[in-house]
Amino acid sequence: MESYRGLWLKGAIIMALNMIEEGLTPVEIGLGERDFYIDLESETALSLQEAERFAQAKSHSFEIKDGVINSNGKQIIVQGDASPSGDPKYYKVLNISVHHPSAGVQLVRIRGVSFETKEQLEDYLQWLEKASETDHRIIGERMDLFSFHDESGPGLVLFHPKGQLIRNEMINYMREINDSMGYQEVYTSHVFRTVLWKISGHYEAYRDKMLIFQKDDDELGIKPMNCPAHILIYKSRVRSYRDLPLRFSEFGNVYRWEKKGELYGLLRTRGFTQDDGHIFLREDQIKEEIRKLVTKTLDVLGKFGFSGDDVRINLSTRPDESIGTDEQWDKATKSLLDVLKELGTPFVVKEKEGAFYGPKIDFDIRDSLNRWWQLSTIQVDFNLPERFKLEYVDENGNKRRPVIVHRAIYGSLDRMIAILLEHFRGKLPTWLAPVQIRVLPISEDNVEYANKVAEVLRENRVRTELDLTGDTLSKRIKRGYDDGVPYMLILGKKESSEEKVTVRARGNIEVRGVPLSRFVKEVLEEIKTRDVENSAIKRIQG
Ligand SMILES: [Zn+2]
Repeated sequence: MESYRGLWLKGAIIMALNMIEEGLTPVEIGLGERDFYIDLESETALSLQEAERFAQAKSHSFEIKDGVINSNGKQIIVQGDASPSGDPKYYKVLNISVHHPSAGVQLVRIRGVSFETKEQLEDYLQWLEKASETDHRIIGERMDLFSFHDESGPGLVLFHPKGQLIRNEMINYMREINDSMGYQEVYTSHVFRTVLWKISGHYEAYRDKMLIFQKDDDELGIKPMNCPAHILIYKSRVRSYRDLPLRFSEFGNVYRWEKKGELYGLLRTRGFTQDDGHIFLREDQIKEEIRKLVTKTLDVLGKFGFSGDDVRINLSTRPDESIGTDEQWDKATKSLLDVLKELGTPFVVKEKEGAFYGPKIDFDIRDSLNRWWQLSTIQVDFNLPERFKLEYVDENGNKRRPVIVHRAIYGSLDRMIAILLEHFRGKLPTWLAPVQIRVLPISEDNVEYANKVAEVLRENRVRTELDLTGDTLSKRIKRGYDDGVPYMLILGKKESSEEKVTVRARGNIEVRGVPLSRFVKEVLEEIKTRDVENSAIKRIQG
């Protein structure tokens, strides 16, 4: 699509000049990743039909001077990495949204494309539909999960109700995992004095990515990591060898100021939630703890369908820039290596790719599009205990230094959601789907029964929606499929009179005459066991 960028920019210019002729005020045009945009000063949003009026070929003479086009006393700023070229004749308006570049100014953003031939336009629309199946940003917009806004800042996500449902499900599951491993959940604030970051070393090593500011004669920083706060909780009491391993977990919100050009949907943001955990333990406990962590991590990844050849374990060793002594690094690295060897799971050694404070084990997974993603991480740390002078009292009453293990299984919750959306093409497993069931009454006559079915499902805490739009059944089924709803229940006269449902599941599966109670039982089982497959329909099909 790269070769069309000049054509799109030219199309945006023509469309903007068409608007000026009609008395509108476009102020800026430019290029997005896969389209052009026009920003229009306007108190109200435009409808798609209104915008389409301007999307047509017309010859205008114009000149771009210092990145600006002057026309009828109005100025349009021209952005974008291409020069306007060609003779665009075929246009398509793709999207209209509203944003506020500053207080008191509202801009309507029109996104579209333009081509020289009809074939080019049709090819593009086909390509876009295919891309939209596997781009989490487009899936997220379509499913109404999350958004980013110029006003709130790039890389700073807003999760909508349905996105938050997914987050909560992921968190609930991880809480169960954490409980099963003996973690105690904590909460720590988002902003700390920079003294803390100086002790931890982040101030020195991580400062570029931190948000640091001055307030009341004090310098403060927003946390890029949770570890130092967990360490302070450890230090709030005298700890005995009997207390160890001590495991803290937190769904911690951290902020890392990534470069604007590197931001990418939920895959790379400036603020995200980690399923973080820190284990304080004795040196003789390291191997056993790592063994448990590796085993449990593989279990969790398997739950999402990533197992066997689709998981790769990496052991990363000391990087050139690091803190800590040779002896500490050697000891830590050997523990990880021994565990992996003993478990017999294949792994790869990545020389010099460890964190600056310790060696680590990472887990990569391969998704349905054959791409590898790094997710889970387990990091041994001899350095932070040293910096914070951590202690426990051993069996002889002597003070000893514990070791810290940092771990995250999802890594970033936000990034994990992006990967899952792309991996499943928006068709999430039922337990994660924001809408689990959609009820489609065939006609007005079946609405009462539809309401009853929805009520039964909601009483069982199954996330259920009714589609009462009155569109044709096939249209409603297609919409349910596009929205990623795993099960649709089609209710007609026969179903209503017999208290049954016709189940429509993914993969074009339809089963008629299923007793409502049977369906509820099977779908609850599928949700409770967090099946990746739609096992309810398989059992119903028998
Ligand atoms: Zn940590």
